[in-house]
Amino acid sequence: MNFTIKKALIAVTNGYTSLDVQVTNGIITAIGENLAVIGTEINGNNKLLLPGFFNAHTHSSEKWQRGIIPPLPLELWLAHLYDFAPLDTEQVYLSALGTAVETLLSGGTSVVDHLVLIPGKELETITTAVRAYQEVGIRAFIAPLIQDESLTAGMPGGKSLPEHESYFRPTAETLAIIEEAVIKFHHPESGINILVAPTGTQLCTDALFTGCIELSDRYNLCRHTHLLETKAQEKLAAEKYGCTAVEHLNKIGFLNNKTSLAHCVWLTDTDTKILAETQSTVVHNPLSNLRLGSGIAPILKYIQAGVNVTFGCDGASSNDSQDLLEAIKIGSILHNVTDIDYQHWITTRQAVEMAALGGAKGLGLDDQLGSLTVGKKADLVLYDLTNLSLLPRTDPIGLLVLGRPVNVVDYAWINGKQIIANGQFTTVNIDELRTELFNRSQWETREKSPGLGQIEPHYRQVMGL
Ligand SMILES: [Zn+2]
Repeated sequence: MNFTIKKALIAVTNGYTSLDVQVTNGIITAIGENLAVIGTEINGNNKLLLPGFFNAHTHSSEKWQRGIIPPLPLELWLAHLYDFAPLDTEQVYLSALGTAVETLLSGGTSVVDHLVLIPGKELETITTAVRAYQEVGIRAFIAPLIQDESLTAGMPGGKSLPEHESYFRPTAETLAIIEEAVIKFHHPESGINILVAPTGTQLCTDALFTGCIELSDRYNLCRHTHLLETKAQEKLAAEKYGCTAVEHLNKIGFLNNKTSLAHCVWLTDTDTKILAETQSTVVHNPLSNLRLGSGIAPILKYIQAGVNVTFGCDGASSNDSQDLLEAIKIGSILHNVTDIDYQHWITTRQAVEMAALGGAKGLGLDDQLGSLTVGKKADLVLYDLTNLSLLPRTDPIGLLVLGRPVNVVDYAWINGKQIIANGQFTTVNIDELRTELFNRSQWETREKSPGLGQIEPHYRQVMGL
């Protein structure tokens, strides 16, 4: 679809200006004053136009457990998650749909779904997520979550536990599933990308990491993993490698300019230098880090060292929402308490750039996405500045980042295709989605999971509690 946005507010160096934007065949073809209308005319009056943001790390199926897991650190929280994981592809479909919708309603046009696979139905799970994302029309980066160690291995000393068992699926089989998914679904031009995404050093062998590196080289894929989210993982890396996890990943060649790393809470100064040198991207998930007590990632240090940083919501059971604007707000102002020098603090404009261009960079797409630039793909969001939550009028980006915007996305396009118009989805029926999510769930509370009882004493002991 070709269209022209007339008189939208666009951020320029010293403020804002009202400009027209032409989009032809999915590409931004002109930005300027008084442009001729090509295709449909969109009234941009009193609306702010920004490039779409990236929800650069999430796990869509966690939506089924949002709000229910008690306050626990990651290692114990995971026991709950594993014990009650959805095993039904229809649930996978609905949670992927819901994750995409919530991301879009908070300014995101791309999602990196570190997708939990149903055992025995791995390809079916990926097929289902692809279907959901294609229906919504979001730009999807599906990163099938793989590991080849069982949960107990994820804790320091965990392998010595009597409960420790080897993982149910051999490493080569897991890699074969990913290769099949790549061959079937990796079509960047149509908006579906497959990533190699070992869950993290804590639950993966070098054989799995190396196999992922080979696949990513062979098929030109981005790489994604969790990295040093918790203190326990820092301890485990020392135990497993005799060096830090970053040093180890660098040694085996996992880090490059298409590698994005979720969390990065417990990095040394040397680790930070390695990320800058390898041009790896840090995905900051502030709400999840607070919810699970993982710590505050030293984001200001990363930025000063020249590391690219972007934002993610993380899965909806450690957040417990998929509101990208909320993650951007908390992910920016959280760091004001970590550095007394306010000149290092993240400005609202910087936050928006991290969420858009930073996200694109993390996926090696900064030449195609992430800014309002002629020649880039039209992944665009138009915000309604007359919405009550953005009034009275002050700095539009300040209101968006520091405020509490509610239902402010008026229009959204991905690859030039209209996904939201006048605040309503044009691709999916939200009322049907609400009905399905309601009917397939119930009001409930939850006691301790069986898995938690098995590992909690060990966790307390190794963490000195
Ligand atoms: Zn995660």
